[in-house]
Order: sequence, then C-alpha cells, then structure tokens
Amino acid sequence: MSLHIDPVFANSDSAPAGTNNLTGLDDWREMDPQQQPTYLDGPALDDALSSLSDSPPLIFAGEADVLKQRIAAASRGEAFVLAGGDCAESFADAQADKIRARVQTVLQMAAVLTYGGSMPVVKLGRMAGQFAKPRSADMETREGVTLPSYRGDIVNGYEFTEASRRHDPARLLQAYHVSASTLNLIRAFTQGGFADLRLVHEWNRGFLTSNPGYQRYEQTAREIDRAIRFMDACGADFDALKTTEFYAAHEALLLEYERALTRIDSRTGQAYDVSGHFLWIGERTRDIDGAHVDFLSKVRNPIGVKLGPTATADEALTLAEKLDPDAEPGRLTFVTRMGAGKITEALPELLSGIGDRLPHVTWVCDPMHGNTITSNTGYKTRRFEDVMAEVEGFFNAHQDAGTVPGGLHIELTGDDVTEIMGGATEIDDEGLRRRYETLVDPRLNHDQSLEMAFQVAEYLTR
Ligand code: PEP
Ligand code: MN
Repeated sequence: MSLHIDPVFANSDSAPAGTNNLTGLDDWREMDPQQQPTYLDGPALDDALSSLSDSPPLIFAGEADVLKQRIAAASRGEAFVLAGGDCAESFADAQADKIRARVQTVLQMAAVLTYGGSMPVVKLGRMAGQFAKPRSADMETREGVTLPSYRGDIVNGYEFTEASRRHDPARLLQAYHVSASTLNLIRAFTQGGFADLRLVHEWNRGFLTSNPGYQRYEQTAREIDRAIRFMDACGADFDALKTTEFYAAHEALLLEYERALTRIDSRTGQAYDVSGHFLWIGERTRDIDGAHVDFLSKVRNPIGVKLGPTATADEALTLAEKLDPDAEPGRLTFVTRMGAGKITEALPELLSGIGDRLPHVTWVCDPMHGNTITSNTGYKTRRFEDVMAEVEGFFNAHQDAGTVPGGLHIELTGDDVTEIMGGATEIDDEGLRRRYETLVDPRLNHDQSLEMAFQVAEYLTR
C-alpha cells in the first residue's frame, strides 16, 4: 500500500461534505525537498508513516486557531511572543525533571516580560517535536572515519557509529510518542498549578539572590512583588493566574512526518499539521519554490519563517504572498536571525524595503543563530553580549521603522549548562568545558535566560 500518499484523516467523516481541502498536500513531493533523510528500508518507512497517519493528533486544530489570535495580538503590539527551548530535543532528555526545568525557565522569563511589557506573553516551547535538524554537511569525518551527519533523534542517533548514524524510519514513531508524553507533561504543569504566578515570582526572587551581578534587576523584582501583593489585596482572582497557555513549536523539516500528521479539521474542513501548534521553516529551507514553503502554504497553523542577513524585502514579500495570501493576522511570523554585526544594517534595510505592505505579519527576534562562533577551546558557542546586542538591534530597528518588535525566539535549557560564554556568571573559554551538553547548538542556561528576560523587560518599558 502506498501509505504516504493515502490521505488517512481522523474526523474526516464528520467534515461537512465537499469541504475537505486536500488539494496540494502532496505537491511538495515533486519539489526535490532539501534536508530529508535517505531511508533504505522502504517497507519500514511505509509502516511508520501508516502508523503515524492512524495516530491521534498531538494538538487540536482549535488550539492552533487560538494561538493564531494570540500571535495576531503580538503583531499589533498587544502581546509579546516568547519561544524557547532546545536547539535539538533528544529522546534521552525527555525526562520529567528536564522538561520541568525548561517549562519553568520559560514561565520565569514570561513573568518578567509580562511585567516589563505590561502585556500578555504568548509562551511557545521549542518542545514536544523539535527533533529534526538541518545540517550544512551530509557527512561527518572523525579521525579518518566518515559517517552520515547527525540529523536529530527523529532521523538517526548522535553516537558516532555506523549503526547509530543510519537513517532509521522507526525513529519517526518514537519521535511522535516522545512528543506525546512531553506535551502531556507540559499540559499537566501549565494547567495543574505549577504555573501559578506567585510561585514563578518566588523562583525569580531566588534567582536574583544567587549572584551579585543580578542586583541591578532587584528594582524590577520589587515592583513585581508590589504588583502581586496589590492584586492580592484587591482580592484579584488568582485562580485565573494559576494556569497558563503554553504551545508546542518546532521546525517543520521532515516533510514525511509532517504530512503523515496532517489532518482535516472536522469543524472547518481545512488541513492542519497536528504535530505541533506552531511550525516554522528554517533559514536553509525557505526557498520560495521549495518543498517546505509549498507544504506549509497548504496547512492552516500559525507558521514562521526564519530570515537571515541576506534576506531581501522582495523575498519576504514573495514568501508572505505564498504563505499568507489572505493577509490573515497571526498566520505568518518572520523570525529574523541576522547576527549582532549585521542586524543594524540588514534589518532596517529589510523593514524599509517592505514599508507598510505587511502590517499583519509578526516580527520575532532569534538572537542565537546569527551569532554562532567557535571558542578558542574548540566549542561551538555564542557570546551572551552578542546575543543581547542583536536583541537591542532588533528593538532599535523596529522603533526606527515604526514597526512592532513582537517577540523573542531563543535556544535555552533549564539546566545549569555552560554552552554560551559571558553573562553575569562570566563563563569563559575554559568554563565551556565544565558542562557542555548540547547535541547541536549552544543554549542559554537557566541563569542566562533570566538575565536576558530582565534586560529585555527594560527594553519593553522604555
Ligand atoms: C534552529 O532554529 O535551530 C535553526 C537551525 O535555525 P536557522 O534555520 O535559523 O538556522
Ligand atoms: Mn539551533
């Protein structure tokens, strides 16, 4: 059975007759998709895709619609998007304590940003599906041995052996199950009391006393304290502050996986990719005539496109036309990742070239991917000061252009790793050795993430 082109849709029986919009969901197959695995075992691939097609969706299309509204508010400056999580999730790290630490870090940052911006923060995790990585080289050589590059746990293993680096279709199913259990825990945490604002604020107070370098943020913390006590004294309904919305986001890289998890929404007859709420297209696969842009143009989720320093206004306008022809607020987010050295020229130029033609698009800053360097000690790293310089360049460019800085997209972990240099705890070249654990790109650790949030809160208040 040719399973990956068979549309197997949950709920399609109950969709209004004639409204099933399957048109074009497989057109990408003709477009030479970049960055895809090479599977040698066809029947095993068909089995995996068949199981995925029959599996329950990870998200409900209605949630994706709500998220679209939240992101639309960010495009108008009435909310701020915070997307954070690993560069690459791993199956091994899908453990309660690690998931909790990441969710906690995002919640802590969000509390500070909510106060700083006096507006709701739309919380997204690069979580519960962020398993596929684009790579610049197909092969990797170590000590004379050449093997396929690691492409994320959904494709192959990190261990440098032939067996582990083989592209294994069974990993598609494992990624689905790990995503499901991760999302289940995220939903439990954010609905079950763990997200209580008072608790989150207590954690932030603990953070501020842990390092003298953080004392400059004491003032902000005291103000949040007073705001919370004020609400308490007024008898504010803290039940509403005990839960929060938290959405799952990942790069929609592996098109077989995304296609197998696409369903027709029974309410509207429209196609949604139910592998996550928010999906983005990476810098390497955003070719306007490419497979990734085509596929995401056919599903109704809110989506993002990364834009590097070479992106032109024409490209951005063409992408918007193809991905968001109806100019639907919240549908399209541009995630700029220019690099600290380039953003001061490249972003103003991009924004002025676009002018007032994309008022419905949301602009988000990824200050990580344009700032990757190799340390003297040989680690792939980033400097905290470069990351913060890009954030500042992002706010300045939007302020000058009269456009809205709508959010941040960052790579972080809740753990105390040493992968990014600098910050108030002053991790240096040598310090990177201490706890360098990432499988792909370096992440802000817990303290660096909060330090960023306090600094960004200052930009939001100015
Ligand atoms: C990423 O977000 O991990 C990534 C690969 O980003 P980019 O596509 O911007 O390089
Ligand atoms: Mn990355």
